[in-house]
Amino acid sequence: MTNNTQSAATAEKLKAIIRDVPDFPKKGIVFKDITPLLADHAAFTEAVNCMAEAYKGRGITKVLGIEARGFILAAPIALALGAGMVPVRKKGKLPYKTVSATYALEYGQDTLQMHSDAVGKGEKVLIVDDVLATGGTAGAVIALVEKLGGKVDAVAVLIELEFLNGRAKLPGRDVFSVIKY
Ligand code: AMP
Repeated sequence: MTNNTQSAATAEKLKAIIRDVPDFPKKGIVFKDITPLLADHAAFTEAVNCMAEAYKGRGITKVLGIEARGFILAAPIALALGAGMVPVRKKGKLPYKTVSATYALEYGQDTLQMHSDAVGKGEKVLIVDDVLATGGTAGAVIALVEKLGGKVDAVAVLIELEFLNGRAKLPGRDVFSVIKY
């Protein structure tokens, strides 16, 4: 199998185990529920390996996980890459000094925070989340990393909702996704 057919086969296998939940958290949204995938050792391993393999040997020193499902993927990816793991959280959850970035939601706005000493100047960072939808979240996390002088190597997600065109909000960035809808 070539690398491409292998990743297509992985994507199809993982797709089959992700659950669509219509109208959650509100009407019109089809929520991609990854909990059945996480509960399956083989599928969870394959998902993490697939994301980590893409970034081995690139000198990444920090893997950022976005609250909350991003944490679950970022931690094993960080270990696989020999990097540290950094939680990016909703406003008010982190105990120490923070940097913040505010971004637009469909209605209103939200703020994400990271500890101000979590990423050093020039550090190579991989940003990890479960889903890339409109790209607003990933864009805000890129801003946080760059505020601290870190270098964003890439954004890696398990699932990309291509019809929402999140990549348009991340111009010039390396964006990797295992599964596309
Ligand atoms: P966005 O900022 O629009 O790219 O949204 C990305 C964030 O919202 C991620 O942290 C996802 O976990 C969550 N998200 C957005 N849409 C969905 C969806 N359809 N299913 C599951 N999570 C989603």
